[in-house]
Amino acid sequence: MARAEKRDIYQILGVTKTASIEEIKSAYRKAAMQWHPDRNPENKEEAEMRFRECTEAYSVLSDPQKRQIYDTYGHAGLERAGGQTGFNEAIFQDFHDIFGDFFGFEDLFGGGRRGGGRTRVRRGSDLRYDMTLTFEEASLGVNTKIRVPRQEYCESCNGTGAKKGTGVAACQNCGGRGQLVYQQGFFTVNRTCPACQGAGQIIKERCADCRGQGRVDRERTIELRIPPGVDTGTRLRVQGEGEPGPNGGPAGDLYVVLEVKEHSFFERRGADLYCTIPLSFAQAALGAELQVPGLNGEERLRIPEGTQSDAVFRVKGKGLPDPHGGGRGDLYYHVRVVTPTKPTKEQRKILEQLNATIKVDNKPAERGSSLFDKVKDIFG
Ligand SMILES: [Zn+2]
Ligand SMILES: [Zn+2]
Repeated sequence: MARAEKRDIYQILGVTKTASIEEIKSAYRKAAMQWHPDRNPENKEEAEMRFRECTEAYSVLSDPQKRQIYDTYGHAGLERAGGQTGFNEAIFQDFHDIFGDFFGFEDLFGGGRRGGGRTRVRRGSDLRYDMTLTFEEASLGVNTKIRVPRQEYCESCNGTGAKKGTGVAACQNCGGRGQLVYQQGFFTVNRTCPACQGAGQIIKERCADCRGQGRVDRERTIELRIPPGVDTGTRLRVQGEGEPGPNGGPAGDLYVVLEVKEHSFFERRGADLYCTIPLSFAQAALGAELQVPGLNGEERLRIPEGTQSDAVFRVKGKGLPDPHGGGRGDLYYHVRVVTPTKPTKEQRKILEQLNATIKVDNKPAERGSSLFDKVKDIFG
């Protein structure tokens, strides 16, 4: 049930595996325009995550070599290729090609390009964790702990992948640049050096703890406070609990995506709750005092004399709280009159007597008002 994983990057951009570079560029442009945080002020967190996600996807799919690594080995392959899942060197130039100076991209990614030096600070990947809650947990809120599998820097080698004391040597294949430069007609083409996977360095002796990867798989326990009133689809952001950024960059965020199980008799509509209560014919006709279930224990429901089947009673402010700190929803009781399916001899006799005294006109009723027009406030 607990998953922390990265989404398929073709899916993120909504393109097929065979999409051309033009299709990818166009899909990315559309997605980035849609999810740019400045354009989604009321939904900034999600927008930021989506924006980052589609940008990462684009940075891989726009680079034929990375795309091939991804097609063959998936996310794991990109990670092996030296923490290049993030933004490649060319991506900021690409932004200018695609958007001009329209957006301030550098700001969005933590000033990644500042200084223009070779070592850029890149942010780690965001992670998604799917979590299922009971109706009660979602309604009342809960403090919980989740165990999130993720990659962390190997402490034995400080993330270098080299065995302690052995250090690294410049890659001979690329002279330590990490890139090989080819001349193709008018164009100069940079390709990631296959010998060092772009790192520019070769590890002399691998760190045993991480087998030279510089990262280790760890399971981290994170305390999480679920506010009351959350619903299926609610996302909680836990800042800095995603994967660490390469070269000591800031960690990404963890997004906990909630799914709330349905209750056996409460039905939820936004912050309002609905519940159906069966009522005998006699209770409906004579009126009754009932003990009915509420969100925080029992509620008293007074059924007035002469209540019709399908009447709806509202208890104000007894629904679910707004997780963003607003008010509370209402609790609705919908009563349904049940008739005896197999009346006993005695019941039959009484009902026949009753029938002789009650006259109901069996002509068609006027077209009904909806259930919710029948709401009666019972506690003000
Ligand atoms: Zn290590
Ligand atoms: Zn190299």
